[in-house]
Amino acid sequence: GHSSIATVNPYTNELVREFPAMDEAAIDQAVHAAHHAFAGWRATPVEERAARVAEAARLMRERSEELAHLVTLEMGKLIRHSRTEVDLAARILQYYGEQGPGLLADEPLEIEGGTAVIANAPLGVLLGVQPWNFPIYQVVRFAAPNLVLGNTILLKHASSTPQCGLAMEQLFTDAGVPHGVYTNVWAPGSRMGRIIENPVVQGVSLTGSNKAGASVGEIAGRKVRKSVLELGGSDPFIVLDADDLDRTVEAAVVGRLHNMGQSCVSPKRMIVVPEAYEAFVDAVAERFGGLQAGDPADESTTLAPLSSEQAAEQLMDQVRDALDKGATAVVGGQRVDRPGAFVQATVLTGITPEMRAYTEELFGPVAVIYRVADDAQAVALANASPFGLGSAVFGSDLERARAVADRLETGMVWINHPTSSEPNLPFGGVKDSGYGRELSHLGITEFANRRLVVTM
Ligand code: NDP
Repeated sequence: GHSSIATVNPYTNELVREFPAMDEAAIDQAVHAAHHAFAGWRATPVEERAARVAEAARLMRERSEELAHLVTLEMGKLIRHSRTEVDLAARILQYYGEQGPGLLADEPLEIEGGTAVIANAPLGVLLGVQPWNFPIYQVVRFAAPNLVLGNTILLKHASSTPQCGLAMEQLFTDAGVPHGVYTNVWAPGSRMGRIIENPVVQGVSLTGSNKAGASVGEIAGRKVRKSVLELGGSDPFIVLDADDLDRTVEAAVVGRLHNMGQSCVSPKRMIVVPEAYEAFVDAVAERFGGLQAGDPADESTTLAPLSSEQAAEQLMDQVRDALDKGATAVVGGQRVDRPGAFVQATVLTGITPEMRAYTEELFGPVAVIYRVADDAQAVALANASPFGLGSAVFGSDLERARAVADRLETGMVWINHPTSSEPNLPFGGVKDSGYGRELSHLGITEFANRRLVVTM
């Protein structure tokens, strides 16, 4: 929860620009406009809707530097990570722009004496609530498939990334998406109930914290509306042997530090067998200890600030709790002594169940490393989390790695690669990490009326 809608540069903690929130009448008007626009949008041929989304991909590539710098300004990520985010977002727009109509094609079923198909139809107005950690990628992950499907969209961006929100609305407008089909709502999270309760709203998708997700899911459930929730994670990263340890360490470090650790899928809990443990801890600690804090817009910086001062302090509370209860900081463990929302890249060992770090999501550059005796212990520890988003298993014996992977209670598992996101691969979790899937062919039908049509 942020108190106002504003850009605050986390590198300096300076207020850059503030935006007024909509009042209730303006929110209701936005919902009405989205409902009004639905009739025309659903009647537009799917190829034409997809062409608008493909055009948005083209425009995003044209504007990629401008967008990347906005992301870095508002939430502080390293400029090269911002560029990676914008590139992935453009590929998602392109994927649905090109493949969307095919993914939505009628699906024939076998019946006697006639024909039957499943025909995908849009539902209507949707609300998307998106977080600040990937303010461009998260938006297109929801918007691209639903625009091709024919739904209309109200987009609530995180209060800390309003300029990214403005840029995305402008992008879709410039791509030829008609008025009312994609509209920003400027309001705090606490106002979302009014939108979800409006009877014309047919569904809501949220990416963010478990608390925000549970609130949205509760309201949607009461109104009998579909919801998709992509919430936090505390992904296990299991190391089964010491073979090719350089590759395994590289994957762990790059995965954990991408976006300064502020990613729902990030190897937050590294679980290592005795054979590899000491060398693994030393190598990760060495890499974490070598990072240089600085301006995230500067190419040479390797340690960026977190998204806000509040986020940095929240992470430090979790780290201090662990250290107070006897954990070891092999490296890091403190704020960086300079202005801005910086936290040292930290490696924690000796984590026990009474520490917050055992069960909570650590949203920053903090790796927790556990030592386990064998595969069974690794699986038990991996599953001893309320979350179930992604996971990774590293080992040279692929049969053994697959056997471990098959026992993990997560929505995604990657073997010998950190959990990642691609336009054509489904993304989502189980347990407290939420439900539903985004991206791929699964993502485009979450908010479809998968209508049965029988002809005899
Ligand atoms: P939030 O979940 O509060 O923010 C995510 C989005 O949800 C924002 O747009 C926010 O709006 C909105 N929101 C907040 N409360 C509600 C509500 N009751 N109803 C509807 N929408 C709501 O995340 P925080 O920024 O507070 O981050 C806290 C922690 O959540 C992080 O440290 C991390 O652990 C987790 N998180 C995980 C993410 C992931 O990708 N898995 C992404 C973001 C956070 P507003 O900005 O106006 O409050």
